[in-house]
Amino acid sequence: MYLGAIEAGGTKFVCAVGDEKGNIIERISLPTTTPDETIPKVVSFFQNYDIKALGVGSFGPIDINSNSATYGYITTTPKLAWRNFPFLQTLQKELSVPIGFNTDVNVAALGEATFGAAKGFNSCLYITIGTGIGAGAVVQGNLLQGLSHPEMGHILVRKHPEDSYKGKCPYHQDCLEGLAAGPAIEERWGKKGTELAEKDIVWEIEAHYLAQALMQYILILSPGKIIMGGGVMKQSQLFPLIHKKLTEFVNDYVSLPSLKDYIVSPGLGDNAGITGALVLAKQTLG
Ligand code: ADP
Ligand code: ZN
Repeated sequence: MYLGAIEAGGTKFVCAVGDEKGNIIERISLPTTTPDETIPKVVSFFQNYDIKALGVGSFGPIDINSNSATYGYITTTPKLAWRNFPFLQTLQKELSVPIGFNTDVNVAALGEATFGAAKGFNSCLYITIGTGIGAGAVVQGNLLQGLSHPEMGHILVRKHPEDSYKGKCPYHQDCLEGLAAGPAIEERWGKKGTELAEKDIVWEIEAHYLAQALMQYILILSPGKIIMGGGVMKQSQLFPLIHKKLTEFVNDYVSLPSLKDYIVSPGLGDNAGITGALVLAKQTLG
């Protein structure tokens, strides 16, 4: 059985056809320009296959409340051409198959929980630290959603005593994303993250913020596994720094597994999102 998957990012769309075991049969990558340009290419890719369902993991914010009048819309995105775009409805009209629609990070969490680093766990948290910070979660086997989807990148954190950077979030200035996403690192230090690998204070400050965030996610959600992805986490020296800081912050209040096994890179690498979208497609068939 063929299933379709879309990982819709702010810079590129990855579309794939695969199966219910998470195997990818064919994939394409398209630049995210405008809906008028991008969507017809997406649709014609899927029309080559007899897909039975489609799963979409989208950049956001998006409306995932199925009772809402704007369910399936991209809502307040800074990408103006996509603002208030009825994404799900447009795909539905063209493809006439059941479509599962959720955030990119929720879908990546689903992929990791089914086939990746959190396989065998019924809960996990997936966080990406890239151009922005976002996290999704699987809780008792289901994707975490309520009023809408979680926005875990915008939580407030305590400043590092040596950090005088003001923050970059247009909504909250010094929230987690404003202080710790890739563009914040670049603006704070005047260089790209890739050029700062040897500068210890950069990663000490970064770990200070990420460990605080993880502590809060652990206290609120108690995930069975934490998966950290995105460009910034390619700086693998962050992992032991995060472990050390988290140990200090938690201070034995809750008992955690060995942090080396608990906080890990995506088991599916860069395929977490697209594989999760296949899983979401399968779930729409019941
Ligand atoms: P996106 O979030 O757009 O999907 P990425 O996850 O690759 O894409 O994140 C891009 C951000 O991560 C940029 O701010 C970039 O500077 C930063 N980044 C990418 N690779 C690295 C790296 N190896 N080390 C540090 N920062 C990186
Ligand atoms: Zn913010």
